[in-house]
Amino acid sequence: MTRSQLSQAYPLASRLDEDGRLQLGGCDAVELAREFGTPAYIVVEDDLRARAQTFVEAFKARAKSFDVLFASKAFPCTAVYRVLAQEGIACDVASGGELALALRGGFEPSRIYMHGNAKSVDELRFAREAGVGHIVIDNADEIERLEAVVGDGDPQPVLLRVTPGVSGDTHAAISTGQADSKFGFSMLDAPDAIARLRDSAALDLVGLHMHIGSQILELDPFRRAIEAIAPLGDFPVYNLGGGLGVAYTSEQEPPRIADYVAAKVDTAEHALGPGKRILDEPGRALVANSTVTLYTVQSVKRNVSTWVAVDGGMSDNLRPMLYGSVYEAQIADRFGGGTPSRLTGKHCESGDVIVRDVELADPRVGDVVVTPATGAYGHAMANNYNGVPRPPVIFVAHGDARVVVRRETYQDLAARDVEPGDG
Ligand code: PLP
Repeated sequence: MTRSQLSQAYPLASRLDEDGRLQLGGCDAVELAREFGTPAYIVVEDDLRARAQTFVEAFKARAKSFDVLFASKAFPCTAVYRVLAQEGIACDVASGGELALALRGGFEPSRIYMHGNAKSVDELRFAREAGVGHIVIDNADEIERLEAVVGDGDPQPVLLRVTPGVSGDTHAAISTGQADSKFGFSMLDAPDAIARLRDSAALDLVGLHMHIGSQILELDPFRRAIEAIAPLGDFPVYNLGGGLGVAYTSEQEPPRIADYVAAKVDTAEHALGPGKRILDEPGRALVANSTVTLYTVQSVKRNVSTWVAVDGGMSDNLRPMLYGSVYEAQIADRFGGGTPSRLTGKHCESGDVIVRDVELADPRVGDVVVTPATGAYGHAMANNYNGVPRPPVIFVAHGDARVVVRRETYQDLAARDVEPGDG
C-alpha cells in the first residue's frame, strides 16, 4: 500500500509499506512505540515544514504585504515553535506562558502578536519587556491596563479584536465570531473603542483583528466576515484570524490552503481596499495533520460492544470529550476493518472514549493503535487526570526519530509539592 491508500488525515511523508505497516517520516510506527513507549505523539517534521511553506507560498502568490502567524495555542511546544520560526513565519500567543515558549523557540519578539481576553498586568508587562510587536486589544478594561503599563514609554502598536457577527458551521465551544462572545468588541461597541484608541498617546492603533472560529470547512463564512467589518473604517493592517478546518477522517474534505488564502485575500482586496497588510493566524491547519498518537491496547472486552482499551485517553486527547470530535483509528501494522469497536481510554469516566465507532482488524492486547491528526490541541490540552504522566513528543524525519519533549515521570507529578518543613 502507498500513501495514496492512507486517509488524508495522516501526515505527508507517511505510508503503508509492502507488509502493511505504517511508516512515519521513514520510521516504522510499531518500532517507534517499542523504542519510546506509548502513548506518544509522533510529529512528522517534513509535514510541519511543508504546510508552513504552502501557506507562505499561497500568500506570496496573492498579496503584496502579508504575514502568516502560527496560532501557537494549537501546539505550544518549543521544538514546534523552532521549526515554524525557521520556516520564516510569525507567531500568535495567548498567554505569558505561550510567549515564554515562543521566545525560547526563537521567534523575533517584534513578530509576535499577543492575544487573550483576560491578560493580566504581569502578562502585559512581560510582553512590553520582551518587545512584543503587537498586542491585540480584547476589551475596554485592557485599554486602561495597557496604557498604565506603557506609561510614557514608546507607544505600543495594537490591533483591536472585533466580532463581525458571522460564525462558521462548527461546535459552539470553538465558535467566536458571534456578537455575544467572550472575545473582542461587537460591531456596535467597536466604533467607541476605535475612537478611544485613536485618542490614546500610549497605544498606536494600526488595525483590526477578527477570528470567527475553528475547524471551519467552508470558505463563505470567512468572506462574509471580512465584508462585515469593512464599515468600521480604513486601516493599514487586518488580521483575519485562523479557523481553516482539517481532515480528521477520510470523509472530511477541507478547502485547500491555496483556496482558503485566495478567498480571504481577494475578499479583503475587494471589501477593505487594495494594498492592505493581511495577517492570517492558522493553528490547526498548520499542525493537526503533522502528528499521530500511538497507543498500546491493554484490554479487549466484549459485552454489548467491543471495548478496546488503550493506555491513554482524555489526558492526551481531550477533544472527543470536549467537542464530540471524531477521529480515525487503525492498528499500526494491520490496517483494515472487521471488528466494530469502541476505542476507549484508561480514565475513570465513561465518557473517556477516543473513537466511538471504529472498525479495527481483530484487535488484540499488545497491538499498537494509531490515531491520526492529533497535532492540534492534543499536547496543548494534555493533563494529568488520574495521575497519568503526559506523553512525550517525538519528531521523525528521514528515518530518524528524536525526543523533543520527554515523557512525564511520577516524580514530575510531585515536583511542585511543598512538604511541611520545606523552605
Ligand atoms: N487566532 C485566534 C485568536 C484564536 O483564538 C484561534 C483559535 O482558537 C486561532 C487563531 C487558531 O485557530 P485554528 O486553530 O482554528 O486555525
